[in-house]
Amino acid sequence: MKTETAVATKLSSKSLKVSRERVDPNAFDVLTKLKHAGFQAFLVGGCVRDLLLDAAPKDFDVATNATPEQVRRLFQRSRMVGRRFKIAHVRYGRNIIEVSTFRKAPSGNEKVNGNGVILRDNVYGTLDEDAFRRDFTVNALYYDPHEEAILDYVGGIQDIKKRRLRLIGEARQRLAEDPVRLLRALRFQAKLGFNLDKTITEHAAAASMHLQDIPAARLFDEFSKMLLGGYAANAWRLLQRMPICRTLFPATPPDSLLVRLAMENTDRRIAQGRPATPGFLLAVLLWDDYCAKFKASAAHLRGKGTSEAHAIAAHDSLAAQRRIIALPRRHAYFVTDVWRLQRHLEERRSKHVRKALCHPKFRAAYDFLLLRSEAGLVDQHLAAWWTEAQQAPPHQQDAMIAALNAPRQRKVRKQQRPDREARAAAENL
Ligand code: ATP
Ligand code: MG
Repeated sequence: MKTETAVATKLSSKSLKVSRERVDPNAFDVLTKLKHAGFQAFLVGGCVRDLLLDAAPKDFDVATNATPEQVRRLFQRSRMVGRRFKIAHVRYGRNIIEVSTFRKAPSGNEKVNGNGVILRDNVYGTLDEDAFRRDFTVNALYYDPHEEAILDYVGGIQDIKKRRLRLIGEARQRLAEDPVRLLRALRFQAKLGFNLDKTITEHAAAASMHLQDIPAARLFDEFSKMLLGGYAANAWRLLQRMPICRTLFPATPPDSLLVRLAMENTDRRIAQGRPATPGFLLAVLLWDDYCAKFKASAAHLRGKGTSEAHAIAAHDSLAAQRRIIALPRRHAYFVTDVWRLQRHLEERRSKHVRKALCHPKFRAAYDFLLLRSEAGLVDQHLAAWWTEAQQAPPHQQDAMIAALNAPRQRKVRKQQRPDREARAAAENL
């Protein structure tokens, strides 16, 4: 790695318009206790960057020279977590402050795989060593709210002003050590609207290939951060331009309107404080693949076992994707339910209508149907029917369901000419 001088520029946080009033009181408490115990302690990473940008930090991370064990002993309500890195979580009710111990930049002696990807780098270091092992310059700023000072070893302040994402050290090597940094670059680009330094784009193709070596569980964490942070539409647009999109989502068709609408919808939900789940996004990303697999299975079973065809298609589609990005089991069940319910929502067989309305995943399945309808993949009248049915009082619901069985109603429905896309989607199910 290029050696940058390990002398920090110390800036007054006040002069940078960062007020300590904006620091989370729990994080402040962690800093105070660590300092009283004789340790160094700073806020670091995204929270400092976001405070400098006058944005609301998502969480407040602390870096210290205390080891996780020492942190653990200092705070009663704390525990050690982490597979790759051991860190301490200090709990204040529902708020968790992550406390990580200063680490060294890779020395070249770490355990690496055949492609140079570091498998373990858990070697503790000093404050300046910690600064150089971080990913982007804008993420390597240390804020001490007691002293009202910000330490900058790598030109992060300048890059924030220039709105530029630059890897610390040599981009080729930093991406080779950890190809996930490429995904993180896109995430921060989407979130902050910063420009990627050209050294990152130059080495993006190689890093994309090496993402295959990253454990699927770690990619699930990054996937969730990227698409459930309130900037999914931007992130997806950027992802689509890069070869990593094919590496991560080989079964997702490029330029899918359904996917774009789902990303926009996710951002809206998050902005409104409504829940958004990784399962819903996976259901969208794999929808075409699932439909194709369902069609193939149904043909193979000669239309006899529709449920079986569904089970096979859902399993196969999810299994292939989960080899790349792990999906915890409960989310996989969620996806399977949402897919299965689509058929019931489309068919509207009276015995299934009530069951569907009471199903715990009905709301998600209905949201999914709305998106499909918005994307022109399913008749809009169908979505409108379900909107009405779930809001209707019981006697009106009964009447709506009874009307589905009436022969005249059937005829009317047959006469409605679904547009081509809706018909194609219906055939897929
Ligand atoms: P956000 O506010 O969106 O959470 P963040 O910068 O805090 O952004 P995190 O994923 O929470 O991102 O990581 C915290 C910090 O840890 C980063 O700011 C960075 O300094 C460091 N970091 C995280 N991942 C890596 C990595 N793969 N390589 C080097 N440093 C990393
Ligand atoms: Mg963070």
